[in-house]
Amino acid sequence: MFKFPELVINIEKIKENARKVVQLCSENSIEVWGVSKGLSGNPRVARAMLEGGCVGIADSRMKNIVSMKEAGIDGPFMLLRIPMVSELDLVAKYADVTLISMKETISLLEKACRKEGRQCEVIIMVDVGDLREGIWPDEAEDIGNVLRGCEFVKFAGVGSNLGCLSGVIPTAENLTMLVETGKKIANMVGNPLKYVSGGGTSSLKLVEDGIMPPEVNQLRIGEAILLGTDVTRDRVIPYLHDDAIEVCAEIVECRRKPSSPIGEVGADAFGNVPHFEDRGIRFRAIAAIGRQDVRLEGLTPLEEGLEIIGASSDHLTMDAEDMKNKLKVGDVIRFKVDYGAMLAASTSRYVNIRIVS
Ligand SMILES: *Cc1c(COP(=O)(O)O)cnc(C)c1O
Repeated sequence: MFKFPELVINIEKIKENARKVVQLCSENSIEVWGVSKGLSGNPRVARAMLEGGCVGIADSRMKNIVSMKEAGIDGPFMLLRIPMVSELDLVAKYADVTLISMKETISLLEKACRKEGRQCEVIIMVDVGDLREGIWPDEAEDIGNVLRGCEFVKFAGVGSNLGCLSGVIPTAENLTMLVETGKKIANMVGNPLKYVSGGGTSSLKLVEDGIMPPEVNQLRIGEAILLGTDVTRDRVIPYLHDDAIEVCAEIVECRRKPSSPIGEVGADAFGNVPHFEDRGIRFRAIAAIGRQDVRLEGLTPLEEGLEIIGASSDHLTMDAEDMKNKLKVGDVIRFKVDYGAMLAASTSRYVNIRIVS
């Protein structure tokens, strides 16, 4: 049947990564939620994260949470993207915790939870500089007032998101601002501050360096567990596997061709005017994978001497001149992926998932 392109997931390596991250964090009294959105809420990945010691599974999409539940993953589940009004019934039914930032949404979630007869914990997102979601610290009182009136929506803490939209790096300073805002809201509501959720992979470095404010007791970790990298700080995390995930594609053409196009050059299939360096006649290969499968800017060929030239919807063209073993039709080549390429490949219905251990 359909085999390639393929996204290969090494479940054992993901479990080991989870275990290492959980170990490091638990030495600092921090619990870890495994973030499953990078692989579209794959249930086997979620199970590996839980077996690796994560206290729960966090995902940005209700669709992923529902399908993990249906696949028999018990959770608990946290919704990472502040909820849409149109999905609050699902949140009330399936999520145990949600991040949230709008008063209106809190009131509507309270209604949905009452209807469902189920409680939902909320973590109030606080914007400490990355300018994505979150209340301003001076809204603490206002939001505390709304939460105080809730019966089914339980204030459970505050969270921040750094290194996401603007790439602002988490520091002891901006996380201390988060803690202070949390204390204010907790005072207003009269609930304890159960969670101070200090971000994702980009916050791990503070734990490693021993400078995480002690009040921070939760992290939501995806990239580090799945890829072993920290893109915000541009590093491979030395104690983690960075090869748990690969994309494979099959070669459909190998031929010597000039490296510079013949004829007048207009825009490519995506409206960009490409530029090619003239390197003379080169041995080229085409793999049956393209923009409908993956984000090619995030692919790195694992075979030495293979270099990506470009891709259209379905074809990936590579310079294979410098490879030791000449490629031939039917060969399968492997690529390392970054977060964007992994996300795209797991989302594409044209890419098969193969779990190995
Ligand atoms: C995706 C996401 C995370 C996880 O980020 P990583 O960098 O993959 O660890 C954490 N929090 C929120 C709100 C997210 O959307």
